[in-house]
Amino acid sequence: MRNKEKLCSECFTDQGLKLLAERIGIENSENCLNCSNSNGIKLDIEQIETLAYRFFVVGSIFKPDYGASPLIQFNKHQKTSVKLSDSLQKDIKLFEKELGIGFFHYGPRLWMIGEIEPLKELQNKKTRKSIFDRIVNEFPTVLLKENELFYRIRTNPKKPTNETEYDSSPYPGNGRLDSENHPVLYGSQDLEVCIHECRVTVEDEIYVATLKTNKTLKLLDLTELIDEDCTEFESLDLSIQMLFLASKHSYEITKDLSLFIKEKGFDGIIYPSFFSLVRTGKIPFPTVYGISTRKIPQYKEFEKSSTIRNLALFGNPVKDKKIKVKNINKLGLNRIIYDYQFGPAEIN
Ligand SMILES: [Zn+2]
Repeated sequence: MRNKEKLCSECFTDQGLKLLAERIGIENSENCLNCSNSNGIKLDIEQIETLAYRFFVVGSIFKPDYGASPLIQFNKHQKTSVKLSDSLQKDIKLFEKELGIGFFHYGPRLWMIGEIEPLKELQNKKTRKSIFDRIVNEFPTVLLKENELFYRIRTNPKKPTNETEYDSSPYPGNGRLDSENHPVLYGSQDLEVCIHECRVTVEDEIYVATLKTNKTLKLLDLTELIDEDCTEFESLDLSIQMLFLASKHSYEITKDLSLFIKEKGFDGIIYPSFFSLVRTGKIPFPTVYGISTRKIPQYKEFEKSSTIRNLALFGNPVKDKKIKVKNINKLGLNRIIYDYQFGPAEIN
């Protein structure tokens, strides 16, 4: 017997919920068992649960300075205790009835919102040095071999065919890892990431250089999932993840870290992209029974595959002949796709 559709998009009052239901459900011309409409997009039990999860859990993710956590959760054991808008209060009854669940305020484990010792030590100028030492020692050194290709994007360069346009910015200091007197060339082997990281718009003149290494480069790989024998609250691995997924307020730490790694003799860093979250569309810092999936062996490959790798090379690697510009192309954006999702505007 097929899993019968119990609800449809027309059953819901909240517009965001309705639109999300349309994207999750399937089309058929039968009358809805709940509201009798025939033109709604129908949802079976599994799809209703997906809708609840995406709208209320993913849709309520809150991002403090470091980390992230949903504000709402649901399960079969609790009665609904969250207060939402009038229309959502009505809609919630449908989920309660069909899934036998209740929605409640989720109390995150504190590590999920950045209560992690090494991360706190990194935020303190006096203690960060010892964590920098650990980072250099505990993360793997990788060699980017000669003739490896990667990309660098420039928007609106003065002379697009001039190779020096694709070296590090002559005015360092604005990025995540560069600072005054410490220029950094940013690139990636994933062209789409470069486009995102450059925050290009359709009005920009965009050029992409294909860069090639002239010699083996020694890099510190901060995207590797390191083995640790500790709890989430002491995890260096999670600290690094959260540091690189945080926005501008974290730059003073990453700039310091970048200088430190350079002084240790590295040519550059491989680091997790800020856009990993957006690109892979997953919940940040997922857990299973409250344990970070980064600490569960079966999930490690998945976790690694969902990290997008960025490349930062110190100095002026084109001028210094560490790398060379193999090719320059003009890049045209045919369209920009925004993937979006809905959630409640107000939670009490
Ligand atoms: Zn309906």
